Amino acid sequence: MGLPIVAIIGRPNVGKSTLVNRLAGEQTAIVHDEPGVTRDRTYLPSYWSDREFVVVDTGGLVFNDDTEFLPLIRQQAMTALSEASAAIFVVDGQLGPSPADEEIATWLRQQPVPVLLAVNKCESPDQGLIQAAEFWELGLGEPYPISAIHGSGTGELLDELIKHIPHVTEVPETNEIKVAIIGRPNVGKSSLLNAFVGEERAIVSPISGTTRDAIDTVVERDGQTYRLIDTAGIRKKKSIDYGTEFFSINRAFKAIRRADVVLMVIDALDGVTEQDQKLAGRIIEEGRACIVVVNKWDAVEKDSYTIYDYEKDLQSRLHFTEWADTIYVSALTGQRVEKILELVVEAAESHKRRVSTAVINEVLEDAVSWHSPPTSRGGRQGKIYYGTQVSTQPPTIALFVNEAKRFNDNYRRYIERQFRQQLGFKGTPIRLLWRSKK
Ligand code: GDP
Ligand code: GDP
Repeated sequence: MGLPIVAIIGRPNVGKSTLVNRLAGEQTAIVHDEPGVTRDRTYLPSYWSDREFVVVDTGGLVFNDDTEFLPLIRQQAMTALSEASAAIFVVDGQLGPSPADEEIATWLRQQPVPVLLAVNKCESPDQGLIQAAEFWELGLGEPYPISAIHGSGTGELLDELIKHIPHVTEVPETNEIKVAIIGRPNVGKSSLLNAFVGEERAIVSPISGTTRDAIDTVVERDGQTYRLIDTAGIRKKKSIDYGTEFFSINRAFKAIRRADVVLMVIDALDGVTEQDQKLAGRIIEEGRACIVVVNKWDAVEKDSYTIYDYEKDLQSRLHFTEWADTIYVSALTGQRVEKILELVVEAAESHKRRVSTAVINEVLEDAVSWHSPPTSRGGRQGKIYYGTQVSTQPPTIALFVNEAKRFNDNYRRYIERQFRQQLGFKGTPIRLLWRSKK
């Protein structure tokens, strides 16, 4: 969780989006809707060498302009910068340094974040060096000539960038498992929390969370500590007549982000709703481990088909049931509630799991010999050179291939299934990064 952030800053039209897209390859954007910021910032996962990070396009930073959006845009850039490990300041090499560039540079020099200067639109190597040299005057150190469109020069830029980016695995390890209990109002989140805590109140110390939205409760079982992130604690205020749903879903989103394992609570009497699907989508986007908890099982009239019908409903309406365990419980009677924690431990272990490069390549070799990569119409066949796990939480495996676009969704799913079948990863999403090697 919490990949280092690289902010992409610059005037409009210098090529920021083009650069972001190049850095992110074919990964899809994660759009975080943050209240108070009108233009959504787009976060794109990326990596270079053994470093993973997220690039954020900040929108155009304009200083000498009095458009009405100016303060917002500037605020956005500042917010992006405040959470960034490094920034790339993009300028237009064909236009040369402009007064606005100088103004932005002056501002950037005052920020406590390392800034790299990328001089874009330098397609011709010789010309590029000359164009780039003009930007020494900005006082931001060496200008890197690049072409975001063609990709030239970006390697050198990234080599320098990753020197400023921390290793994600350097995050201190704790034995505590953070568990978010999420779900729609009235599905039984508070009741579940109480069932966990139960008579053990004595050893429970409520600790206020980092936000006022959730109160964490720490419980211990057999030497394992669980930090339960409760999102139920705060009730909708009846007097607020705007967007209560908006607020509660945002609270859930925040809890998901802080968690290692999410307990996605579903009301057995209602089945999976649209809101549940929304929450499920976010769990996958954030790469959290998950357990589907169907609560109020005591209140369901059961026959021998009931479980089967539920499983079918879950499978068709939640996309992650391929890997997430489902458990049927009653917070009211306590039935199977303790068993949830066993699943939590299992899911947290999968989430943190690291698999050696040798094992990954064994699985790949096997998978490819059962089922060769597709051949495109042009006749060139997809080829996987090797794979390696680049991070955990969730387990993320980079696959170096001749050309990523030769691998269609079907084949990608096949490879993911092979990893799961051979290596397990129960309870956690896994990510595969398909990287073209040129
Ligand atoms: P942004 O407003 O800073 O995000 O800029 P865009 O990425 O939208 O690019 C602005 C314009 O510059 C577009 O017309 C791009 O095609 C062009 N552009 C971006 N990168 C390059 C480049 O490396 N070389 C050239 N020649 N043009 C580029
Ligand atoms: P929250 O809004 O998700 O925190 O839900 P609550 O824990 O406040 O529960 C909402 C309602 O569902 C309460 O009336 C609970 O008594 C009831 N409830 C919670 N869990 C169960 C359960 O396992 N079985 C039954 N029958 N009712 C439950």
